[in-house]
Amino acid sequence: HAEEESRFVADRPRSAALAAEAADALLAGVPMPWMTRWPGAFPVFFETASGARFTDVDGREYVDLCLGDTGAMTGHALPAVTEAITERASTGITTMLPSTDAAWVAEELRRRFGLARWQMAMSATDANRFVLRFARHLTGRPKVAVMDWCYHGTVDETLAVLDGDKVVPRPGALGPQVDVALTTRVVPFNDLAALEAALAHGDVACLLMEPALTNIGIVLPEEGYLDEVRRLTREAGTLLVIDETHTLCAGPGGATRAWGLVPDILVVGKPIGGGVPAAAYGVSQEVADRLGPQMLSHDIDVAGVGGTLTGNALALAAVRRTLSVALREEDFAVAIPLAQRWADGVARGIAEHGLPWHVQRLGARAEYWFCPPPRDGAAAAAAVDEELEAFMHLWALNRGILLTPFHNMALFSPHHTEADVDLHTEVFGDAVAALLG
Ligand code: PLP
Repeated sequence: HAEEESRFVADRPRSAALAAEAADALLAGVPMPWMTRWPGAFPVFFETASGARFTDVDGREYVDLCLGDTGAMTGHALPAVTEAITERASTGITTMLPSTDAAWVAEELRRRFGLARWQMAMSATDANRFVLRFARHLTGRPKVAVMDWCYHGTVDETLAVLDGDKVVPRPGALGPQVDVALTTRVVPFNDLAALEAALAHGDVACLLMEPALTNIGIVLPEEGYLDEVRRLTREAGTLLVIDETHTLCAGPGGATRAWGLVPDILVVGKPIGGGVPAAAYGVSQEVADRLGPQMLSHDIDVAGVGGTLTGNALALAAVRRTLSVALREEDFAVAIPLAQRWADGVARGIAEHGLPWHVQRLGARAEYWFCPPPRDGAAAAAAVDEELEAFMHLWALNRGILLTPFHNMALFSPHHTEADVDLHTEVFGDAVAALLG
């Protein structure tokens, strides 16, 4: 690792200088605290990003398998999207009035995801916060349920895990809530008995979950699990909210469409704006019939479910053009086989060295584990080997490949090539050989 660290530093003098400068002015030394989580002595500063590649300020080119942790699932700076953004930016962005793209965007989201009515948000965090409020408003119930080791953005109620049977803040959480047990029930993924017990009190407004966990590594639902989740939530009068922000990698209508799951509310963020901050949530006809008239009524204070820049004209123009030219059936038809090729290459390397590691894939996204794939979030959290992960990432980074900073994940866009995948297979094999000495 020390050798890789030295190589990292020696190759990137300009990033080092910019990092030193930023360290003095920015609270975390970077504009967003997660940017401190990369391997290497300092963050790599990027200059330009296009398609599936980016160039850093030292002129080094990389294959981007992180794609902004799905924020750039489409590939970077698609010319058609850039054109729409530029045009809208020059004709005005923020007026507090709807722009001409609003209905098109909502209709396209309805066509893709099946939910009847749509509303915009600035980010997936934002959308999830709004949805939790609506769910409480509609059901009159105080609590929400989430999966153990889930991640739904910086939403207080969801930053909770199980400690035995107690609900506690995530370990090390910065500024944890006073008592997360008051707001949240936490259940292990793939555990139907625990879900049934959590809903039995009749006080859970909604269950917010990803169809597969993606933020503690990919944890796939077991056969029949999601159907039972749907049945149990319906029986309990608890709204089922599916967060497709990451699982959109499963296809143009996300994992819900791929797997035939029908939620009451669906949240989608990150990639839909082609890089511009934008998110949306859709609600079923039944929820819309109850909620729509209330939102129009001046008796209800809607202060908690929108912001000045929510649904701004730039976001709407970016979403419209992105959904017109990217994240379509034909795009996933290119990206998913690339993810499969990546997974096959890694699996071959694992088999060659007889390691107990495993590969997991969900649509256009794949990853490797240093153990068999776990069935729930706690097992996934326990399986994380940060040191080994950091070595694999740094090795790849030094050879021109950026993996997602958390876990060993790779995400594919239609702009990647088989040569990109084969480069990773080679680099991965060399890293393992170096590890085993
Ligand atoms: N929901 C899921 C499933 C996520 O993975 C994330 C971020 O990783 C979010 C919501 C929050 O997205 P944002 O940080 O863009 O608000």
